[in-house]
Amino acid sequence: MYDAELKYCPKCNDEYMLTADRCAACDIPLLTGDEMVSFLANGPRSARQGALTATDDVVTIHQGPMADLKHLKQLCEQENIGVAITSEGGGCGKS
Ligand SMILES: [Zn+2]
Repeated sequence: MYDAELKYCPKCNDEYMLTADRCAACDIPLLTGDEMVSFLANGPRSARQGALTATDDVVTIHQGPMADLKHLKQLCEQENIGVAITSEGGGCGKS
């Protein structure tokens, strides 16, 4: 169980003092014990930040025709996952 007097990293589960803001290992915002309980109850979706920011790590999850990518993007946005569609070399619109 989580202690309301402590903070926790939602990624690595490390415990921190209430004065800490970010996990030293993961560099992400810490949650209080109460927030961890609702985080686990609601699933990771509630902790997602939505749209991408400049500091986010970006991974390629799919490559394919633009129509497919736009559909995927919609699905991800419904799940509050930030998505960026990029073209490598070929440019878009060619299929
Ligand atoms: Zn961590």
